[in-house]
Amino acid sequence: AKSAGGNRFEFSDAEADARAITRHGLTTALPAALERGEFFIEYQPLVHLGDGRVHGAEALVRWSHPQHGVLGPDHFIPLAEHTGLIVPLGRWVLQEAVRQARSWHEQAGPDGFAPLRINVNLSPTQLHHPGLVADTVDVLERSGLPPGALCLEVTESGLIGADEDLLKPLRQLAEMGVDIALDDFGTGYSNLANLRRLPVSVLKLDRSFTQGMQQHPADPFDRKIVEGIVSLAHSLELAVTVEGVETGVQAEQLRELGCDTAQGWYYARPGPPDRLHRLSLADAV
Ligand code: C2E
Ligand code: CA
Ligand code: CA
Ligand code: CA
Repeated sequence: AKSAGGNRFEFSDAEADARAITRHGLTTALPAALERGEFFIEYQPLVHLGDGRVHGAEALVRWSHPQHGVLGPDHFIPLAEHTGLIVPLGRWVLQEAVRQARSWHEQAGPDGFAPLRINVNLSPTQLHHPGLVADTVDVLERSGLPPGALCLEVTESGLIGADEDLLKPLRQLAEMGVDIALDDFGTGYSNLANLRRLPVSVLKLDRSFTQGMQQHPADPFDRKIVEGIVSLAHSLELAVTVEGVETGVQAEQLRELGCDTAQGWYYARPGPPDRLHRLSLADAV
């Protein structure tokens, strides 16, 4: 184990070994898991802060592991990124989520169920993969979902130092009508001036901003920061989504500050797709 100087936080060798074995086990199991259909998607609603209506949902992948039970993405997305399996896995998530959104669109109608939009996460490796545009076009065409109903979420860190070559596929998708969201905005090396250059139409403010809104009134500095980001985003014609809304106090303050849509446990935890239909109908009555 490496020494971290005075401030040591080493694991014992046994623990380190156990972790390595688990990691190794999960990594080697990934391709077969994809083939066996062990991944599934939960959907978390995005609501309009103005009137509370459901606007769409974010697709969040899970692995139903035969021994370890349900694993969240933090347990396997980094491994999938590392091994390149993220490309076929990401393609599967996109295909499945778009198919689901298409089925919501088919169910939409006079009973008040509006056609929902679908947000899908893209990891940096997928961004660099030459098949991204063709795969996305293919998935959309085969499903019949209008491109305008799809939003691809990319993280700021995935776009750090992005040159035109990397931005070109995103630009092409944006030109087709696909929305691009900048995920976890404000966590990394936010370069506000950079925003102008990126083909994004949505900013997803990271949960840390939401956490700052728990007291009422919130710290004036925290409010000013959010106010400034929202005003800048709106002047660039970007919509602002807030993540991690857990309480009504947070929702109310973020609404006052002009944020457009919200996502979080206050509204609903991620869950099965049929629940979206019920939630959406419930707010129509
Ligand atoms: P993210 O894109 O920032 O997704 C939001 C995460 O916050 C989700 O965690 C969600 O369950 C959680 N969350 C939602 N509402 C609340 C709340 O009110 N409070 C708190 N504390 N947390 C909330 P999850 O599902 O564990 O996903 C973690 C990350 O894994 C995601 O972060 C995303 O970066 C990644 N991920 C998920 N699905 C995919 C995928 O299909 N592809 C790729 N590349 N990454 C994915
Ligand atoms: Ca996301
Ligand atoms: Ca996020
Ligand atoms: Ca986040």
